[in-house]
Amino acid sequence: MRDKIVFIGVGNMGLPMAKNLVKKGKKVKVFDISHQVLNKAKKENLEVSKNFNDLFDNDVNFVISMLPEGKNSEKVYLGQNGVIKKVTKKCLLIDCSTIDMKTSIKIGNFAKKKSISMIDAPVSGGVMGATNATLNIMVGGTKSAFNKALPILKIMGKKIFHAGNIGAGNGAKICNNLALGISMIAASESLMLAKRLKIDLKKVHEIMKNASGNSWPISVYPPVPGLIDGTPSNNKYKPGFSTAMMTKDLKLANKISKSINAKNPLGKKALQIYEKFCKEGYSNSDFSAISKLIGDDIWDYPIKKK
Ligand code: NAD
Repeated sequence: MRDKIVFIGVGNMGLPMAKNLVKKGKKVKVFDISHQVLNKAKKENLEVSKNFNDLFDNDVNFVISMLPEGKNSEKVYLGQNGVIKKVTKKCLLIDCSTIDMKTSIKIGNFAKKKSISMIDAPVSGGVMGATNATLNIMVGGTKSAFNKALPILKIMGKKIFHAGNIGAGNGAKICNNLALGISMIAASESLMLAKRLKIDLKKVHEIMKNASGNSWPISVYPPVPGLIDGTPSNNKYKPGFSTAMMTKDLKLANKISKSINAKNPLGKKALQIYEKFCKEGYSNSDFSAISKLIGDDIWDYPIKKK
């Protein structure tokens, strides 16, 4: 039987992910609380539902969500009229949002009590990865739930990892984004130093890509324009992955580190830096715009403050 998928949250990431499922012949119905986002999905020929309750029937065998934060996932799954009350036992729940482990475990355990399987399956690779179906997807849940989700996840991503039990996907993702948030600041410091030293940025970029200072922000997602096509820095820092989202992930990393006494000196500092940038009005800019804060006095790239 043709898979029938409900997709909840079709913002920057969810929309291209849902489109890839449709391209592979899946029957997908999408929902978002934002009318603007839903209209965009409709224009992209996705089947939209303006009413959450109209999303479900007994044939739905997957629910996928791509929501901003834990509180959103909790509301969508466990709320008064939430997903868990709407689906049958044959339906697998896949929350791709990056959220705190505690909430993933809470939702997963609640679903288990109703004999419904759930995995947390946060992703990395950004909007480009979502569009090109090359996301890395890190899964928490049982092996059987992982195997059941695999054919669907493979449509949206390239490398799919089973990290461990429910919540482990988000644990792995938070570790990843802790390093990403820090390395974007490091890449910004290096490129801004090169600019101050009046060395050709393209040359420094090429050298760093091939030398020991390489990182994902350098090789894939540089924080200044003119180095790699299609990146947010080449598009006035339109997200992409917003500074607000990176700040959220660093807060998650700092909170969980504190709870288990894990040392994270750079994680703490990075959070302060992104929080300052948000306060200055750049929370809706891509997180690679953090290079502006590092090189404010020599900044001459286009950026829109919201
Ligand atoms: P986004 O804000 O663009 O999209 C989230 C969507 O969820 C919004 O359209 C919002 O209206 C919708 N939403 C919120 N509450 C809802 C509810 N109760 N019911 C239905 N819809 C609801 O965010 P995004 O950039 O797509 O990120 C989504 C998740 O993916 C976040 O957890 C983020 O950390 C993670 N992520 C993002 C990126 C990226 O590059 N943007 C990369 C990897 C992971």
